[in-house]
Amino acid sequence: MDATQIITKKINGDILSDSELEFIILSYVQNKINDDQMTDFLQSVKKNGMNLNETISLTRIMIDSGERIDFSQHKPYKADKHSTGGIGDKVSLVLGPIMASLGIAIPMLAGRSLGHTGGTIDKLETIPNFKTNLPIEEFKRNVERSGICIMAQTNSICPADKKIYALRDVTDTIDSPPLICGSIMSKKISEGIDGLVLDIKIGNGAFMKKLVMAKDLGSILKHVGESFNVSTDIVFSNMDQPLGNTAGMWCEVMESINALKGKGADDLMMVVFELGKKLILQSGIMETNEQAVQAQKNSISSGRAYEKFEEMVKNQQGNIRDAIKVNQPLFVKEITSNQEGFIESFDTAMIGWANVDMGCGRRTKSDILDNSAGIEFNVKIGDYVKKGDRIFRCFNSNMDKLEKACKVLNKTYSISKQKGKSLELIYKN
Ligand code: URA
Repeated sequence: MDATQIITKKINGDILSDSELEFIILSYVQNKINDDQMTDFLQSVKKNGMNLNETISLTRIMIDSGERIDFSQHKPYKADKHSTGGIGDKVSLVLGPIMASLGIAIPMLAGRSLGHTGGTIDKLETIPNFKTNLPIEEFKRNVERSGICIMAQTNSICPADKKIYALRDVTDTIDSPPLICGSIMSKKISEGIDGLVLDIKIGNGAFMKKLVMAKDLGSILKHVGESFNVSTDIVFSNMDQPLGNTAGMWCEVMESINALKGKGADDLMMVVFELGKKLILQSGIMETNEQAVQAQKNSISSGRAYEKFEEMVKNQQGNIRDAIKVNQPLFVKEITSNQEGFIESFDTAMIGWANVDMGCGRRTKSDILDNSAGIEFNVKIGDYVKKGDRIFRCFNSNMDKLEKACKVLNKTYSISKQKGKSLELIYKN
């Protein structure tokens, strides 16, 4: 087979066979085709799409590029959650420990920042010494012993996604439903889970801008999950403004810890409980929505959810005690309102890019992250502000980058004299 011919076929909008797709993906993993050729392929998929059979093939090829974890000897329901990416989306860090405390095992392979959106793994790595690249055996042991382990995909699990994900991040080939589906579902199915809940973000900070696009993606994801025998539920949630009170690196871990101790922002907890409800009902440990939400609240109020988080950090050798000290930002700046009125909208993607440029993400593969960097959000859409009220507090350890980001952030909100309609955070399915 010839890679150039196959790529040209896709550029021309043709449908690729299972073996053609396998040839391209494996050639890239084995360094037989280069980044430029793969970029051509990814761009042609973004432009021309893939049909369902191609998407299922792509997912299968990415799974088979590595190992699948075998949890068949581990009795509890095994499940995971994944989001299509957002700003301030720290849901995994809160939901994972809650689920584990309720007896649902969470073997989570999470991602790094992608485009303007943050990544769970980058955030967890702000905890000193926290290991996100454990051998599979240790990952399994942690899940079997404590009910949770969150790590990055390794060279042995979905190496194809690992390599392609890093390339997509810097080649504007993220927002393509079949690529998103292949990437997410290959990692999730390789974890050996029984069930999955997917949080599809919609809005100006998400890769899916409109509900119809998100619904399309949702139905592909559900179809692919179920064709690999993974019960798959979908939640559609709003990303027209950042989620919770912060977006960035350590600040999001800190916010998650506060949420696990009962001080979570309302919007964050609403998304957590909705996703948690789906997993609890899937697992059969409870029967009604009310029971499923109450169980999560009890897990927090009893301290069990935070204990699980601490146990996970300890298993992965992290040192939570030193985290606050080592992640102190050197510089802080505030953005204040230049007028009075109601917050009308945010340009959430632009907020995400400002965060990337402060040190929370990558414009090129070699960019180094700044664990102290992030933004605190002091207002939400619909809030009333006076002139001089704080909109954002931004922090990092590089003044140049901070000043540039603040110039951008100044343009990311609008204020209106009239109070607009409030946002629907969770869309009805
Ligand atoms: N999360 C992933 O793992 N992959 C994507 O492509 C998007 C979000």
